[in-house]
Amino acid sequence: MAECECLPRCPFFHDQMESMPAMAEMVKAQYCSGDRADNMKCARHMVFVVRGRDGVPSDLYPSELARAEALLAGE
Ligand code: SF4
Repeated sequence: MAECECLPRCPFFHDQMESMPAMAEMVKAQYCSGDRADNMKCARHMVFVVRGRDGVPSDLYPSELARAEALLAGE
């Protein structure tokens, strides 16, 4: 995957990762952008696909798959 369509406006990096640039780069390489990235494994993207941009909590981490599934299940 080249780049997640959410990356230019993904609030995750601005709100949660601003003070942790090294961590942000690791997360980005894993989920958002680059040869090894896979946004299909991102909890934020999972919710975005179903609920749209406004349905994604700003503090949801890409690794929080269980939380994403609970959100989508209406919990
Ligand atoms: S954190 Fe998830 S939704 Fe945001 S840009 Fe990266 S892959 Fe896309």
